[in-house]
Amino acid sequence: KLGIALVGLGNYATNQLAPALQQTSLCRLAGIVTGTPEKAEKWSKQYNIPTKNIYNYQNFDQIANNPDIDVVYVVLPPSMHREYVVRAAKAGKQVFCEKPMAPSVADCEAMIKACADNKVKLAIGYRCQHDPNTQAYMKFAKEKTFGKVRMVTCGAGYFDARTTHWKQNKALGGGVMGDMGVYALQGARLATGEEPMSVTAQFHTTRPDIYKEVEETATFQLEFPSGALAACHTSFGINMNYLQANCEKGWFKMEPFSSYSGNKGSSPQGPIDFPLQSQQAKQLDDDTSALMKGMSLIAPGEEGLRDIRVVEAVYKSVANGGKTIKL
Ligand code: NAD
Repeated sequence: KLGIALVGLGNYATNQLAPALQQTSLCRLAGIVTGTPEKAEKWSKQYNIPTKNIYNYQNFDQIANNPDIDVVYVVLPPSMHREYVVRAAKAGKQVFCEKPMAPSVADCEAMIKACADNKVKLAIGYRCQHDPNTQAYMKFAKEKTFGKVRMVTCGAGYFDARTTHWKQNKALGGGVMGDMGVYALQGARLATGEEPMSVTAQFHTTRPDIYKEVEETATFQLEFPSGALAACHTSFGINMNYLQANCEKGWFKMEPFSSYSGNKGSSPQGPIDFPLQSQQAKQLDDDTSALMKGMSLIAPGEEGLRDIRVVEAVYKSVANGGKTIKL
């Protein structure tokens, strides 16, 4: 099994990735990188991680000399992704990085270049792309099962009660657009199988005292080369988790479409409801398998960059009073 080191032991690493790494068949939790000594001690005991595989943010680069670690998985706030992906690549490790890939296109390009220069692969944690339920609706788009997709409506949001987390902090890469917004954007891109040509966006908030520096809710409209349109919504204040595609000769829809489990939907062909034990375990095994076989990754750095190009254009649209931005 390939050894994976998780960098940043916050909510997602603790509650999703570490448990998933107990269910994977091709990789295992071999190391951790944390700034908190108490977490190091707890994880070391819980997951039987030897002291030599535990790093902090200062001595992290020494991971280059550790043969137990094949892959570094960056699970930090988005503004820190670039630094740790580049350091991992320079250490000669394969790299997995959480979404959103980074706050800017320039960051994403630097991350892709660092991995290419050091001859390592870069996978982005788009767990839904590994889910057979997502793959089922992607197939409808690819095969034009119901003719061309004409209109996608997609919403990804939840009520975040926190007020001082990095999600509310611009410098750390917060704001809903990069966070839940990439799910709505992925929904539109995957359900059409196309890349948007233009975007028009608006920001809203009902909690201006909390959402001072970043957006709480974003709505954005996309136009695709085939003429397909998408209306996407994303929010830290509104619960929504659905996708609907209206096609020339039919439709497909998913609700929920981007959960950790239980994604399901339907089309005129019947239900879309494929069982999946752990989406994260599937993602980790799919990506590890691709590394072992030298095959292409399902969601490489270039896929993360595609989304961040649109995210940047969303900010540009809002900064220009809701102008339509060509991509
Ligand atoms: P979190 O706040 O719970 O954890 C962040 C971790 O980074 C913490 O351990 C924190 O101590 C550490 N950290 C180090 N330096 C920090 C700093 N300067 N400021 C703040 N934290 C710092 O966040 P999370 O929800 O675990 O998210 C981490 C990453 O995972 C993000 O990129 C997020 O978008 C992504 N994520 C992905 C999914 C998914 O479904 N794929 C779900 C949740 C989070």
